[in-house]
Amino acid sequence: MAYILGYVYADGSIRIRNSGSEVTIKSKDKSILSKMNFLMESSYPIHKELRTKNYIYVLSISRKALVKDLVSLGLTPKKSFTMKFPTVPSEFFFHFVRGYFDGDGHVRILYKSLEISFTSGSSEFLNKLQSRLDENNIVSKIYQQSNGNYFILKILNVSREEAYIAFYKDANIYLERKKKVFDEFFSKFHIKTIQCVDCNKRVVKTGNNQKRCQECKNINQRRLNRISYKKRKNYLRK
Ligand SMILES: [Zn+2]
Repeated sequence: MAYILGYVYADGSIRIRNSGSEVTIKSKDKSILSKMNFLMESSYPIHKELRTKNYIYVLSISRKALVKDLVSLGLTPKKSFTMKFPTVPSEFFFHFVRGYFDGDGHVRILYKSLEISFTSGSSEFLNKLQSRLDENNIVSKIYQQSNGNYFILKILNVSREEAYIAFYKDANIYLERKKKVFDEFFSKFHIKTIQCVDCNKRVVKTGNNQKRCQECKNINQRRLNRISYKKRKNYLRK
């Protein structure tokens, strides 16, 4: 459900009517919509709509309880500029992020580097997303697009592996084509990194048996020096 919520936040729309409210999710990939139906144990029809160049698939959900839930979590009919970040419990946070990413995120390999980004019309939404990512040791930066209408959140290089691991952990639903880009990057161009045992930061690996980032390594070294200094002093006293 957290994944679907994320996807709706990115690529869905909601219509509230007296006759019955409806959530509509659109995608170029029919398979992801079928998977959503399967996970919700529903069989809402998936329609094919012709766009200027290609087809798009549309799943319309008219389950009252679901629509009510989405509205109470902050989704509004005119969503992109007023969208509030939903209250997602931390154990479901990355499922929500992955859904949002599959709907409104981008990933590409560019000059042997990996670019991971999210777009939104709401800076408030991206700011909240950024602080929640931050709490999980994933560092990002927010840019305003030149026309001023959209904001882009980019995951910094130091955090790309952390993001890859977190996005797909225990994932039972995801867009294949986006995950493939990650898989390709980490198998081809990947620079080995380690997670510091003291501060949990991920840093580029520079030596064998490296356990700490440079900062923590220095702190640890000073601590070890102090211990051996005390030992020496005690020894001399004897
Ligand atoms: Zn460290």
